[in-house]
Amino acid sequence: MPVKLTELIDIPHLQMLMNRFYVLTAIPVGILDPDGEILVATGWQEICTQFHRVHPVTAERCRQSDAYIKDHLNIDGFVDYKCRNGLWDLAVPIIIAGEHVATLFLGQFFYDDEVIDEEFFRHQALEFDFEVDGYLAALRRVPIFSREKVRKIMDFYIPFVKFVVSTGLANVQRTEAEDALRETEEKFATAFQTAPIPMAISTLDEGRYLEVNEEFELQHGCPRDEAVGKTAEELNLWYDIRERQEIIAQLTRGETVRNREVTLRDKDGRTLYGLYSGAIIDLHGEKHLLALRSDITARKQTEEALRASEQRYREIFNNTSECIFLLDVTRDGRFKFAGFNPAEEKAVGIANADVCGRFIEDVIPEEIAEGPLVHFRRCLEVGATISYDEELKLPAGRRYFQTTLIPMRNAAGHIDRIIGVGLDITERTQTEMALRESEELFSRIFRATPSILAISTIAEGRFLEVNDAFEEILGYGRQEAIGRTSQELGIWESSATRNRLIGTLREQGKVRGLELRLRTKSGRILVALFSAEVIEVNGEQRMLSLVNDITEQKQSAAELALAKEAAEAANRAKSEFLANMSHEIRTPMNSIMGMAQLLDFTELSTEQQQYLDSIQISSDNLLALISDILDLSKIESGNVELERTEFSLRGVIDDLLKTQRCLADAKGLNIRTEIPADVPDNLTGDPLRLKQILLNLVGNAIKFTAKGSIGVAVSMTEQQKDMAQFSFRVTDTGIGIKSEVVDKIFAPFSQADASTTRIFGGTGLGLAICTRLADLMGGSLDVESSEGVGSTFRVGLPFAVNDLQVERKGFKEKRSLSTWDDNPLRILLVEDNKANQDVFMIILSRDGHTLETAENGREAISKWQQNHFDLILMDIQMPVMDGIEATRIIRVHEMETDGHVPIIALTAHAMREDRQNFLNQGFDGYVSKPMKIVALKEEIRRCLKG
Ligand code: ADP
Repeated sequence: MPVKLTELIDIPHLQMLMNRFYVLTAIPVGILDPDGEILVATGWQEICTQFHRVHPVTAERCRQSDAYIKDHLNIDGFVDYKCRNGLWDLAVPIIIAGEHVATLFLGQFFYDDEVIDEEFFRHQALEFDFEVDGYLAALRRVPIFSREKVRKIMDFYIPFVKFVVSTGLANVQRTEAEDALRETEEKFATAFQTAPIPMAISTLDEGRYLEVNEEFELQHGCPRDEAVGKTAEELNLWYDIRERQEIIAQLTRGETVRNREVTLRDKDGRTLYGLYSGAIIDLHGEKHLLALRSDITARKQTEEALRASEQRYREIFNNTSECIFLLDVTRDGRFKFAGFNPAEEKAVGIANADVCGRFIEDVIPEEIAEGPLVHFRRCLEVGATISYDEELKLPAGRRYFQTTLIPMRNAAGHIDRIIGVGLDITERTQTEMALRESEELFSRIFRATPSILAISTIAEGRFLEVNDAFEEILGYGRQEAIGRTSQELGIWESSATRNRLIGTLREQGKVRGLELRLRTKSGRILVALFSAEVIEVNGEQRMLSLVNDITEQKQSAAELALAKEAAEAANRAKSEFLANMSHEIRTPMNSIMGMAQLLDFTELSTEQQQYLDSIQISSDNLLALISDILDLSKIESGNVELERTEFSLRGVIDDLLKTQRCLADAKGLNIRTEIPADVPDNLTGDPLRLKQILLNLVGNAIKFTAKGSIGVAVSMTEQQKDMAQFSFRVTDTGIGIKSEVVDKIFAPFSQADASTTRIFGGTGLGLAICTRLADLMGGSLDVESSEGVGSTFRVGLPFAVNDLQVERKGFKEKRSLSTWDDNPLRILLVEDNKANQDVFMIILSRDGHTLETAENGREAISKWQQNHFDLILMDIQMPVMDGIEATRIIRVHEMETDGHVPIIALTAHAMREDRQNFLNQGFDGYVSKPMKIVALKEEIRRCLKG
């Protein structure tokens, strides 16, 4: 901006000063700016103002004069010049700060040493149409100065101009200073406002904001209007306001605060990290804090992220199960360990501290290092990640790794590091190896298995593998079979069987023990047991078949079945034969024994008595033999059902001993019983079978003992809930049994030695029956014996134990053969056998009964219909109509009459269970043939009572 005098000098004041001077000196002076503008003028000549500067031509001449003067100005002096209008001008330049700002003119005068050419002026007036007189009058008023005077005037004006200049200059400088200050302030304000970092001015003490810049607003999210007037604490900009107080204290002590790391936050509470610089500044005479902060949040966050990521990587490095090792590659291409992670340390058994910074060949023996080094070099060569499996012989043993090497390049692009990641695949490899071995083993087993084994596709049955037995049994070579289907080979006798089998296999995943027929290569048909299973082979479902050739077994099984059938038939025939034999023998036995008993009631000579005794003993033996045979055959054919009834244990023992005691007495043997009080008495089971067993043992004991005693002992060996195990021991002091034959005596028809029957009688069936009965009852029978000392037979049997004592049931005292006390009876005897009719007649008529006989069932019914009978004795097996049918008809008739005649079955069916059978069929009693007279009488009495 050009300097203007008007702005530097008080112009009116100057005008006033110069007016006063003019009044005193009458020297016309003007000050004009470079554009010719008059700033100050005194005593200015009207010739100039009213004439020259009015007409364009003369005015132009004035301007030319001015221009000339301007061009020729002398800075230190003045310049004078006579203008073309004929008057002198004198000029002094006013130069302030090197700039020509105005010119002081001493205008329009004449020198006294020149002649004033009035004609020129007159002529000029005429030429430019000036009013001549006025013009000339004005001309005359133009001052005339001597050159002396002009110099003196200049002596005044030149310093005057200098004064003006100096005053102006002072003003210029002041203005400039002010401008500079303003500019600085503006610059500062702009810089402050637009600075790309947050800045604030605040009071020192409480930190009240006086000014904040835009970046401050932006970063803190706090508009200027909100911030100004509030304290830092109110705005909550510091994480810890004490930090600001520290900064102030530091500054107050004169210390500098530069790039101090601080933690602030924005209005929303987000953390801002910054490098803080502060200074105490003077504002309007007061001390304030100018603070600025370069934001390093991003850097911090990056640092934090970096740290976190480093931490993460370190954690991965430290905790991953993969083995990581770092290698530094030296300039000469060697490898130095730069670190092992813990997994690597563990896997290789070498500590990181022992290897870090050391060359591989210095750490690992050459022969071990050689392998890995090859890979390291290759990684360096290819300059890219490589992977390989390796086996290492380490201090920790032989290990297998799947290793990946990752080359890392530095800024210059050279590989200076390799990261190795190793997966310890030792277990996997060992498992694979074991698997391979086991596969080999199984393959060998597969091949060598003596049964046919084949693996084939399921749908077609195309063979994938067959074993040696396949080749041997079916006759197809392995190569011949593999790749062909079972159908193609014609192995199936019926392809329908295969389809059925595949259906089952698909449904159930397996087939077990299917019997089928296969054809060998030579056309022979095999009977085979076929099993198959769906197995997975290389991800495909396959059929594993196992075939056993059972052709031979089948044949022998068929033969065996035939043999068994034959044996069973024979056995059945034997049983039937025995039953028939027993029946057939019993019938005549009945009359023999009956007659013998009757004979016993007659007077006999001693000799006759002996014959009779012999007959009776033989009959008894024969009967016992028949009973035993029948019993054994029934047990063996499984036709025995056990009874389950309540009984008294002691009662059973008493009863059986009663029958045996007289035999013992006869031999002078004492029978001791031993049943401790704590053995329960009230049991449930089959008392008759128990008695049968014990009777046999006691009978044997008496039989085989000549002197001494017999012991019968019972104990309870075990009790669980209401079941108990009982042990019955029959001890004797008899002949004993040789140890080598002890096992033999339990078999049927076997005795300790051949002389036994001769000396002691017996059939060798008793113990066989006892053993089987004990078995049937869930118990056992054994013996301890020493020859010549005696034997102890022990039977262990289980029985249910009841709380209640039962009334002792048992055999009542046998009645004597006393005569019938009550009224004689009218009896119908139905019996086809004449001899037996006679026996019954004799026995019963002895007691005064009247007997009528019938030969068969039909006759019996008609006699029963015609006469009244108190009792019917009914044989079972008879011609025309048997006893069972006759009884049934009688009972039917009785339903109409409401009467009831007691009927007693007479039968050679000797088994105990037959009794119940008869009772169920309408009989009231049962007497087995051969009958004992006592038993017959007792049964008659019982039936009449009932
Ligand atoms: P049996 O007594 O009818 O011959 P058993 O089957 O009852 O048939 O007995 C078989 C054999 O066992 C007897 O013949 C005898 O040799 C032997 N025996 C059985 N009990 C005794 C005993 N208490 N003392 C010695 N020997 C015995």
